[in-house]
Amino acid sequence: MSAALQHPAPPIVEARDLVRTFRAPRGGRVQALRGVSLRVERGEVLGIVGESGCGKSTLARLLVGLDSPDKGGLRFDGTELSALRGADRRRFHRRAQMVFQDPYGSLNPRLTAGEALAEALRVHAIVPPAEIPARVAALLDQVSLPRDAADRRPHEFSGGQRQRIGIARALAVEPELIVADEPVSALDVSVQAGVVNLFAELRERLGLTLVFITHDLRLVRHLTERVAVMYLGKVVEQGPTASVFAAPRHPYTRALLSAVPRLDPDAPPRPPPIPGEVPSPLAPPGGCAFHPRCPRAEFPVCSHDVPELELRHGAWPAACHFAGSLASGQAGPPPGR
Ligand code: SF4
Repeated sequence: MSAALQHPAPPIVEARDLVRTFRAPRGGRVQALRGVSLRVERGEVLGIVGESGCGKSTLARLLVGLDSPDKGGLRFDGTELSALRGADRRRFHRRAQMVFQDPYGSLNPRLTAGEALAEALRVHAIVPPAEIPARVAALLDQVSLPRDAADRRPHEFSGGQRQRIGIARALAVEPELIVADEPVSALDVSVQAGVVNLFAELRERLGLTLVFITHDLRLVRHLTERVAVMYLGKVVEQGPTASVFAAPRHPYTRALLSAVPRLDPDAPPRPPPIPGEVPSPLAPPGGCAFHPRCPRAEFPVCSHDVPELELRHGAWPAACHFAGSLASGQAGPPPGR
C-alpha cells in the first residue's frame, strides 16, 4: 500500500464547533457563530451560502486568521491555527488569502496598482527584487488587466477592475486557499459574470482551493462543487452542490431555493418562500433556530431539541430532526429554470 493511501492528506481547512460572539452596541452579545463545523478539501470550490446576518463573513475572517474564535478549533493543513507563532503564523497568512466584497476599502488609495502588487511581493519575499516588475506584469495578465493598469490608482478603475486588482494582490503571495467574501455583490450585474469566471479559471489553472461566500444561489450553482448552507450562526446543510440543489434535505435550504427567480416560465411552481424575518442573533430561538419559520416544524421537539448536523438516512448531513423524511424532489427544480 502506498504511503499516500496509508496517510490521506488532511483537509486544507477543518473547523470544529467554532463559536464567536461580539458585544452588541446596545448591550447583549451577538451570537455570530454558534458552533460551526466544516471541512474544505484541497483543490475544491466550497460555497457558503445564507442570508445576511447568518455569520458567513465572520466565518470567512476566522478561516484566514483575521479573527479568532471564542471556542472551537480550526486547523489549516493539519496544524491548529491557535498554535502558530512568528514565522509559521506569517507563512499561514501568505498561504490563506481573502478577497473582500469592497476592494476599494482594502486597497491603499495612495498606491498605484503596480505599487500595491510590488509591496505584497516584497513583504513576503516572493521573488528577488529585480524580478518584481516582471511578476507585477504577469499578475495583471493573470487577471486580464492591461499592463498600463500598473500606473493607475484605485479611483481610476471601475468596480470590476478594482476587484481584479484585489484578486491579483491575493494571488501575488501564491496562496493555496482563497476565501472570497461576496466578491461580486457590489458590482454591476453586467460585470459579475466576468469576475466569477475569472475565479473559475484561476482555480483551474493554479490548483487553488476556493471558499466562495455569497447570498446568491445562482453563483453557488455555477461555481462550486460543495455547498454549506448557514442559518443564524450554524451550518444547517452541507453536501454536493448539484445534489443539494436537486433535492435539499433541510427546510431552510428548500426555502432559500424557492426564493430564487426563475428564468424558465414553464417550470413548475415552487413552494412559497419562508414567512417572517430572520430572528435576532442576540437571542436565537431555542431548539432548532429555524422553528418559528419552518413549515415542517413539530412541537415540542423542534422548539426544544437542537438538531445536530449529521448524516441521517444516508445522503449528506442536514441539521433537521426530519431530514430523512424530506423526500427528494419535494423542493422543485433548481434555481434558474
Ligand atoms: Fe423545521 Fe424542525 Fe427540521 Fe428545524 S428541526 S428545520 S424546525 S422540521
